[in-house]
Amino acid sequence: MKIYIDKNKCHGSGECLKVCPHGALQIIDGKAVVSHDRCDLDGLCIPACPHDAINIVEDA
Ligand code: SF4
Repeated sequence: MKIYIDKNKCHGSGECLKVCPHGALQIIDGKAVVSHDRCDLDGLCIPACPHDAINIVEDA
């Protein structure tokens, strides 16, 4: 499992950065990017996104 950020939905508002306890999210070129090595999949960022851009998905 991993966090997936839909770049088409992400507005780069940074709301997810505020709730991540592990500093796993950054805004790069106006879009949220997750560092999977820091993410513990707690899912806190999912409801924090006002644009429903973050989901947990199966690893490809
Ligand atoms: S799932 Fe949790 S640890 Fe992972 S990026 Fe979202 S808030 Fe951070």
